Amino acid sequence: MAGNWKTRTQLVHEGSRRSQYGEMAEAIFLTQGFVYDSAEQAEARFVQSGPDEFIYARYGNPTTRMFEDRIAAIEGTEDAFATASGMAAVNGALMSMLRAGDHVVSSRALFGSCLYVLEEVLMRFGVRVTFVDGADLNQWRAAVTPGTKAVFFESMSNPTLELVDIRAVSDIAHAAGALVVVDNVFATPIFSRAVDQGADVVVYSSTKHIDGQGRALGGVICGTRDFVRKVAEPYLKHTGAAMSPFTAWIMLNGMATLDLRCRAMAAAALEIATAMEAEPGIARVIHPGLASHAQHDLAMAQMGSGGTMLSFEVKGGKEAAFRFLNALEIIKISNNLGDAKSIATHPATTTHQRLPEDQKIALGISPGLIRLSVGLEDPADLIGDLQAALAAV
Ligand SMILES: *Cc1c(COP(=O)(O)O)cnc(C)c1O
Repeated sequence: MAGNWKTRTQLVHEGSRRSQYGEMAEAIFLTQGFVYDSAEQAEARFVQSGPDEFIYARYGNPTTRMFEDRIAAIEGTEDAFATASGMAAVNGALMSMLRAGDHVVSSRALFGSCLYVLEEVLMRFGVRVTFVDGADLNQWRAAVTPGTKAVFFESMSNPTLELVDIRAVSDIAHAAGALVVVDNVFATPIFSRAVDQGADVVVYSSTKHIDGQGRALGGVICGTRDFVRKVAEPYLKHTGAAMSPFTAWIMLNGMATLDLRCRAMAAAALEIATAMEAEPGIARVIHPGLASHAQHDLAMAQMGSGGTMLSFEVKGGKEAAFRFLNALEIIKISNNLGDAKSIATHPATTTHQRLPEDQKIALGISPGLIRLSVGLEDPADLIGDLQAALAAV
């Protein structure tokens, strides 16, 4: 649509498709198939289908296409392919472009399932993977060689909120001819400038901020039209990664408020992080928006925000962390993020439970560490909830 619309306008209108009824809200085209006017039309569409011509919902669907066009517009990519989950997007982006013998360099601090795809799935198919400390540019320089096909990283790591310098790593990768694939979930599409900074492919779990109300699993791969339609789509559509039209409709509705929500949540996260820094029961607070964060300047340059997440270490180890979690009233104990409801997670015993102890320590996942996904509640109530829980410790 209009290439010069601002993000908030795009989030409401971009990609909208209306049927002959002129419905106001985005329609859910809950259909697997499409009827052709003639045998000739069916034949022609199987040879080459246009952007508003569909064949089968595993390949594409009008509601899903609305979501793809809307997210591509705000990410600043030519195209996007929506998937059934964030992991279908990560797996699809990598599996579709790699073959046996290829070399990938990845940051080590990854979401558990991303690590599984790289360490177990890709390696099983003969892809060589080198892991580096994502914040250490010298390790990237040493690991990326002229034969490297792709680099992969989470632009902000979970749960210790360490940033990877997208521009610097992209320069290293591009000099070697490698494609840059970024899992940008923690940065959110609102604070993302990943494509301007050099990323070739940006992947989201739309389960998080894009839905924003913890209802549906989803994911998306954003990239050039050539990558999305010629590399990713054949793999995704034939292996069944498609997002359901009902999910796409949920995501479209989530996007209308995405900018407002992410900005409100990020402002609250900074307010809460600042308040927590003053608490004597807290050993350290990690939030890229704080001046005390080692990569504060990079966060501001790369995202213009510290994001919607923070982590902090409760003094007294696991026992104190559990007492703290159990005393929370408003904030829920769970493991999603980007939800309207604030969520506290104990990474060492849940999301990162399976990591060996030495790796937990290396990644900073201590027994007292709590990850907080800041929701849309009044930050004063959240700070009150956290302070009351600390008092109970
Ligand atoms: C949640 C998440 C994923 C996986 O997304 P799902 O929708 O759960 O499949 C991948 N990467 C990161 C960084 C995530 O937070």
